[in-house]
Amino acid sequence: MAQGTDIRTWFRGAWHEGSIPIMHSADHGAWMGTMVFDGARMFERRAPDLDAHCERVNRSAEALGMRPTVTVEAMVELILDGLQTYGPRAAVYIRPMYWSLEPGPGFITADPESTAFAICLEEVPMPPASASATLTTTRYHRPTLHVATVNAKASCLYPNNQRMMLEAIAKGFTNALVADAHGNVAETATSNIFMVRDGEVFTPIANGTFLAGITRARHIGLLRAAGRKVHETTLTFDDFRAADEVFMTGNLAKITPVTAFDDVRYELGPVIRQARELYWDWAHSLAAVPATAPRAEPAQTATPGRG
Ligand code: PMP
Repeated sequence: MAQGTDIRTWFRGAWHEGSIPIMHSADHGAWMGTMVFDGARMFERRAPDLDAHCERVNRSAEALGMRPTVTVEAMVELILDGLQTYGPRAAVYIRPMYWSLEPGPGFITADPESTAFAICLEEVPMPPASASATLTTTRYHRPTLHVATVNAKASCLYPNNQRMMLEAIAKGFTNALVADAHGNVAETATSNIFMVRDGEVFTPIANGTFLAGITRARHIGLLRAAGRKVHETTLTFDDFRAADEVFMTGNLAKITPVTAFDDVRYELGPVIRQARELYWDWAHSLAAVPATAPRAEPAQTATPGRG
């Protein structure tokens, strides 16, 4: 993360202070892109859905032909251990990662038994509740499973999202509303997307081409439990133009109101406020992440933008 500070890294059986070297020039993943990651969060000393993020990184590794080396239970334990020394107000981005060290059959594949693992923890503040986003269209689409490893949260998918983001920023917006291969709305370059019409909530149905996120599933569950109708269905760009409210969901900010899609403007309405409240109430109901006394100073200066 660009703003990450107070970085801690788990690598080869120990926690290290700072953003440390974890790859070698001949590591298979370093040049073949066989690398997966997941992003979880600790904020207000809660780590929502940490187990689901750990499960997903193991599934992502398998989707790229790697054998995950850490069980979900062990990964959760490790992460809780690493989080202990962050201060009570620290918001931490939690990133477990796997990559391949050796080539397998045919040379470009990964030897599944040569999987390396690291966890990077970085202090990244939660965006303020007042934060919002603006969206525009992009010429770049989500790929399908036939042409990309969309069944994994894989680093090699993100250059496509990066060019969507660059195009949106060049047009004066903060993110892109992205189509799937059929031209229907899939997600944004960094998050899942929801819209509200006449008090009912709609989000693109998971069709295997975009990351149907853990935060998306959590919001759907919480809204339904609160009696709100949530439809997972095919949605067009015109559906979004006709929406009353639009919001993004993802691990980093949990929920972000959208105030504009090109020249269409949206209010920060009652459903967004309800979804935010439901998420925070649920997060506060979770057991607190145990804390020891915070460290006075990191032993080594963090390197912003590295991870
Ligand atoms: N789509 C993309 C492209 C993402 O990068 C993310 C963030 N991980 C999401 C959706 C949201 O997924 P999650 O809620 O699991 O973080």
